[in-house]
Amino acid sequence: MGAGRYGAGLLASLVLLTTEGLLVKHFALARFDALYLTLPLCVGFLLLWLAALELPAAPALRGWTAAIYVLHPWCIVLVRGGARVVGLTGLLVDNSLGHYGAVVLLSALLALPFAFLRPARADPRGRAWIEVDAAALRHNLSALSALLPEGGKLMPVVKANAYGHGDLAVARICAGEGVRAFAVATAAEGARLRRGGVRGTILVLGCTGPGEVPLLARYCLTQAVVSADHARALDAQGRRIAVHLKIDTGLHRLGIPWDDVEGLVAPFACKNLKVTGVFTHLSDAEALDEASRARTLEQLRRLQRAVDGLRKAGFDPGAIHFQGSYGLLNYADSLPCDFARPGIALYGVLSSPDHRTRSAVDLRPVLSLRARVTQLHRLEAGEAAGYDGAFTARRPTVLAALSIGYADGWPRSLSNGAGQVLIHGQAAPVAGLVCMDQLLVDVTDIDGVSPGDTATLIGRDGAAELTAGQAARAAGTITNELLSRLGPRLPRLVTDDTP
Ligand SMILES: *Cc1c(COP(=O)(O)O)cnc(C)c1O
Repeated sequence: MGAGRYGAGLLASLVLLTTEGLLVKHFALARFDALYLTLPLCVGFLLLWLAALELPAAPALRGWTAAIYVLHPWCIVLVRGGARVVGLTGLLVDNSLGHYGAVVLLSALLALPFAFLRPARADPRGRAWIEVDAAALRHNLSALSALLPEGGKLMPVVKANAYGHGDLAVARICAGEGVRAFAVATAAEGARLRRGGVRGTILVLGCTGPGEVPLLARYCLTQAVVSADHARALDAQGRRIAVHLKIDTGLHRLGIPWDDVEGLVAPFACKNLKVTGVFTHLSDAEALDEASRARTLEQLRRLQRAVDGLRKAGFDPGAIHFQGSYGLLNYADSLPCDFARPGIALYGVLSSPDHRTRSAVDLRPVLSLRARVTQLHRLEAGEAAGYDGAFTARRPTVLAALSIGYADGWPRSLSNGAGQVLIHGQAAPVAGLVCMDQLLVDVTDIDGVSPGDTATLIGRDGAAELTAGQAARAAGTITNELLSRLGPRLPRLVTDDTP
């Protein structure tokens, strides 16, 4: 609803309030006529209207307005006492408008010093942080949407804190683009999204135990059902929940075997479960060789057979989905589907920079990882630095300490030159061992580095770029692991370059 409609609601409720006041006065219904039945309606519309106006945030006013709220009862006392002393009770107490004005004015004045209190907060760019590029995320959403078959929709996978990007921020940006379905790994992750105001379908991909059925029901989460026994255990909790059947077509991780007809129909017999979809997960979608393609196409045939079987038995399978990122990129038009569940591609990267995909999609990396240079050290040739003296200067060397370490998710395996960072647009290799909260880089060949400078561990710095794929490969892993392990200590800052 727009601001206009809330504004109209506010006006209408003010009319009601006035009418109620006149009636109360006219019929002398109450001795104490300050508590109106229609007042909550006015306040409700006022708040909705103000929220819908999308005024610029003014955090500086928070202290002031909070202090006005706390001080105003004392100001009522002060105004009453003061009016008696100066003999103005007629204007400042008996006249309710005068009284109201005097209390508001006095509260606002007395609360003014609180407007200048600056809360003690951590500086989000003080140590190490993640930047989330909202424009890149929106670009990836539309690029991946273009691959979907007619009627298909995206169900972005925002598990593991949206692969380290910040689940609420990512889900909100997606919702702003019209996305109405999300996937997570656990019921707790789904509940977190709901508490953050995310609407639409939230599918829990992992296996949730019966003990968490109340959580599923409370937050309207859709649960993946992985076996007939699982379905019955969930059903036995007596709470009505929506489920999607997870069908195992060959990955053999979770799911009802595709040819187990009894298992597939069992959840439909559970009176507390409402089956709203069926899905499978592909095991080889990223590989384009013959054998992998054959395995994937066999998985798709099996899914189709399971779905056909359900339909023949008179059951409605609901929404059908089977593609993660690579399914969407390599098998875009293989089978009709209602959803695709991209994770890593949505974040603008592939699992490995070596992967090739059938659809050439322009994906833009969403995440940048940056840290501060905290201190510089000049070493003579032969001098050692870091734990275990793991770095030895082979020439007169300048080392920069960065305030980020493996506890932030930057792998320790990137020690001793395996990893590098960008400072002033130039590469600086890691010197010695990555520590828990800090690391050293060799900046001998970069001019003018000083404390407070920004180091880029993932992302662009001027014309240079370090990709998550490069760091992941150097660390012997895939981007999915590298990104999803970026820790909770890093503030996530959403940047948005397009209006
Ligand atoms: C994690 C996950 C996805 C997303 O996979 P990506 O390769 O990151 O796109 C999709 N479906 C299921 C079942 C998953 O577990």
